Formats: sequence, structure tokens, C-alpha cells
Amino acid sequence: MPFAELELQTQLLQRLTELKYLQPSSIQQQAIPVILAGKDVLAGAQTGTGKTAAFALPILQQLLNQVEPAAPHPAAPQSGSTQALILVPTRELSQQVSQSVESYAKLTPIKTVSVYGGVAIKAQIEAIKRGADIIVATPGRLLDLVRQQVLSLSDINYLVLDEADRMLDMGFRDEIIDILKRLPKTRQTCLFSATLDDRIFKFSKRLLQSPHVIEA
Ligand code: AMP
Repeated sequence: MPFAELELQTQLLQRLTELKYLQPSSIQQQAIPVILAGKDVLAGAQTGTGKTAAFALPILQQLLNQVEPAAPHPAAPQSGSTQALILVPTRELSQQVSQSVESYAKLTPIKTVSVYGGVAIKAQIEAIKRGADIIVATPGRLLDLVRQQVLSLSDINYLVLDEADRMLDMGFRDEIIDILKRLPKTRQTCLFSATLDDRIFKFSKRLLQSPHVIEA
């Protein structure tokens, strides 16, 4: 199955051609249509399976759908607020995922900002103020930014938990629950985890609604 069959916009398909992505991987074939249809997803996928593009492409597509089609170079989104939040366990993953999302979005006006703890917060505050349609964050630093009122989570339509099992292993459970309380109830949520065990199923019940379950 070629990418063109996944009903993605030209700017995304062109970028995939530039990146020499010829065919969607198994997780991409399964997840992209379901996420585009607006459903919650619970996915078992290891690193290296192409999971980043599996959630990033349909989210970018949905954000692009909101951009005024008539405007030649629209500054998306019109509201200027953050609409998608990707939670990750570590600084390295935050940088890596945001670089991938930026790369997929290269031919679009969508802006991504990566935030994580262990470094000064000032540059991250400035980056958010310049505009962040998508934020890739570690949970603790995200909460710091919300508490400092640099960032509002009230317009988040898309939430992704990447490597959810690792986030629980690292003790981020309470922070994630605190973040969930600040998000709109009507949103789309995708949870990716290397393992799909009882602990993940139980945790996923707190944040997913009738999820479509996928294994890479
Ligand atoms: P990930 O599992 O998201 O960390 O991706 C693993 C690697 O596979 C990354 O280097 C991606 O750039 C690459 N990749 C993801 N999807 C595809 C694809 N459909 N075709 C070729 N390479 C891909």
C-alpha cells in the first residue's frame, strides 16, 4: 500500500517522498486511518517501527485541515494556541520526536516546540511565545510551564502519550493525571507503549474512550 492511499495532504505526501519513505510501516498502515477518523488509539509499538510518523502524520493532517484553504501562506492555527500535546518520558525523546515532527511538517506552516526539564526554562518560554501548534514535552516541565501560565492546555484537541510504559516506570503517573485534569474532555487521545500489559490497559482506561487497539 503506498502512502498516497492514506488520504494525506500533498504537502505531507511530498515530504514523505523527499524523505524516501516509500511505504507506510505496519503501525502506520493501521494507525493513520484510525487517527484520521478521530478515534482514540491504544498501540503496542517498539522504537524503530515508525511509531512517530504513525501519530504525527494524522495529527498534522488534522491541524492542516483547520487552516484557511484560501490563504497562500497561512499562519496556522488562526487562534495561535497549542492544539496538540505529545508527552514523552525523557529529554532525548522530546528532542528526537520534535525533530521528526518538524521534519514531517517542513512544507507546512505548523510549528512544533520541544520542552523538557534539566535545562533553563527561559528559552523554552520564548519558543512557546513565538508560537507552538504542537508541544512535545516531558510531564514535569510541562506542568511548570502551565503553572507559570506560559502555556494553557484548554485548547488541546490531540493528546499523545509516547512510550507510556516508560513514563509509568519513571514515576510520571501523578504528573500525567494532573495534566489530564487540565485538558478538555472532548479531545482525541493516542497511547503508544512498547508493552501492552494489564498495567497499561488499566491506566489507559483513565484517558482513552473506546480505543481502537493496534499492535505493530
Ligand atoms: P520511529 O519508530 O518513529 O522512531 O522511526 C524509526 C525510523 O524509521 C526513523 O529513522 C524514521 O525516519 C524511519 N521511518 C519511519 N517510517 C518510515 C517509512 N514508512 N519508510 C521508511 N522509513 C521510515
